[in-house]
Amino acid sequence: MLYENYQKVWNNIEEACRRVGRDPSEVTLIAVSKTKPNEMISELYDRGVRNFGENKVQEMAGKYEVLPKDICWHLIGHLQRNKVKYIIDKAVLIHSVDSLRLAETIDSEAAKHNRTADILIEVNVAQEESKFGVALEETIPLIEEISSKCSHVRIRGLMTIAPFVSNPEENRGIFRKLQKLSVDINGKNINNVNVDVLSMGMSNDYEVAVEEGATMVRVGTSIFGERNYNR
Ligand SMILES: *Cc1c(COP(=O)(O)O)cnc(C)c1O
Repeated sequence: MLYENYQKVWNNIEEACRRVGRDPSEVTLIAVSKTKPNEMISELYDRGVRNFGENKVQEMAGKYEVLPKDICWHLIGHLQRNKVKYIIDKAVLIHSVDSLRLAETIDSEAAKHNRTADILIEVNVAQEESKFGVALEETIPLIEEISSKCSHVRIRGLMTIAPFVSNPEENRGIFRKLQKLSVDINGKNINNVNVDVLSMGMSNDYEVAVEEGATMVRVGTSIFGERNYNR
């Protein structure tokens, strides 16, 4: 059942790619397993799924300890600076960097582990007050600062969380803006920064996001079913 859901999402991604002439191999489907038990993750793992997303540091660290070490864990939720140390050696990619201070903390923790941390800049394209993320026009200055000050951080791309809308077409403009921003960034040649990751699209709107250039989609509900936060 779970794997069928996963397959269905993947087929939709392939079709979205076909519609716009993209190669599906450019797209990574991240199975967002937050609040879901290890058994469900294992079920997908046994069918070959390796990319999972979590939004809480503690939950990711707990799952990391007991599940196979070749899982690629994506931290997709807001990250507090005092918690960076718990995931620095566990997350393959931190999707939610939106300040220089957070990047500096990631930088110093990565240095302690003698590694370079891959990050995405979270952009609040929709300018929703309740959301984290840097404003569109502040993104390039932030990338300039991080790339000049943080030698153990590699900026791989951009991430956005689009609003929940009844018609996914309403979010097309948001995805388009993030894609355009990535082109602008690459055109500026900032300290060798090349952004090739666009993390955008969730259960509700991933097909539109793929049509607009997403290279990573973060899908939870359409794979694992509804989440119950009151367990
Ligand atoms: C929960 C979450 C998702 C997945 O949302 P669904 O609507 O369940 O697909 C994607 N991205 C982030 C940042 C999330 O927190």
